[in-house]
Amino acid sequence: MSTKLCGKTSAEHIYEIIKVKIERILKHNIVPGLTVIQVGDKKDSTTYVNMKAKMCEKYKINSNVLRLPETIKESELIEIVNSHNNDKSVHGILIQLPLPKHICEDNVLNSVDISKDVDGFNIENVGKLSINAKPKFVPCTPDGCMEMLKYYNINVAGKHAVVIGRSRIVGLPLAHLLLRENATVSICHSKTENLKSITKSADLIFAACGKANFIDKTMVKEGAIIIDIGINPVEDETKKSGYRLVGDVNYDDVKEKVQAITPVPGGVGPMTIAMLLKHTVDAAEMQIP
Ligand code: NDP
Repeated sequence: MSTKLCGKTSAEHIYEIIKVKIERILKHNIVPGLTVIQVGDKKDSTTYVNMKAKMCEKYKINSNVLRLPETIKESELIEIVNSHNNDKSVHGILIQLPLPKHICEDNVLNSVDISKDVDGFNIENVGKLSINAKPKFVPCTPDGCMEMLKYYNINVAGKHAVVIGRSRIVGLPLAHLLLRENATVSICHSKTENLKSITKSADLIFAACGKANFIDKTMVKEGAIIIDIGINPVEDETKKSGYRLVGDVNYDDVKEKVQAITPVPGGVGPMTIAMLLKHTVDAAEMQIP
């Protein structure tokens, strides 16, 4: 029987830490503040933004959601980011991705003050992570994966960790974080040849390729640990919405073979939001004189 690594439980642990920190910060008359900027009205972006705002409200973090028109110019957007960089009541700034095609994401992400870059996407924070220096913040999803491992006492040092996916949001920063913890890291992507031979030698697999049920039991070794980051909608007529969410790993197929695995939903997802709130609170804490 494999262990189910429950993201809700490990996220609760992060929220306990957050509550203590907030109480301390409030004593200094500082209320943690997060600005979330959404450009356009993409349905899933709106859902994610609403979830983040709801959790902020629950934990007494001031969240300010700016919903800007799809047609906004890059220069106007950067001006708005700058005004929040200069606002002392704002401790974290999150740009909901993706941005419309006419806007260069890098320019906007790099305009976020590194001390408020709670998503860790500013090139300075990215660069520091990649040379094992001290970034102010690292991206929330990979940070959540690492916190989850810590919560479940899973030590990656010396282990072969295979990361499937190399995006700036998940795969690449996760690989750096694993390396920092002395794992032996393989990064796989869409051009990787013989993927199965690599995943079969993995002690830990981090699946972040965005392909529903992509990893099956023939691709994992007995006793491996699986962190499934993928969130993929698949058609399901039994659901009112007409779909359900599954991960990149075929959970039912691998569950008897592995030592531990995260479910989808209820695995890495809750950790991502918990880490965003923690980063915001950490940013506010830095303002305590
Ligand atoms: P991207 O589409 O940006 O990146 C996908 C990565 O997977 C790419 O590096 C791509 O390779 C690689 N890939 C695609 N096909 C294959 C394949 N057949 N074999 C091996 N590698 C492949 O996705 P994201 O990183 O943004 O997200 C990945 C998944 O994680 C998605 O399902 C997303 O919804 C989910 N997600 C979950 C979050 C959470 O909170 N749990 C947060 C963020 C994302 P290449 O670079 O060569 O194109």
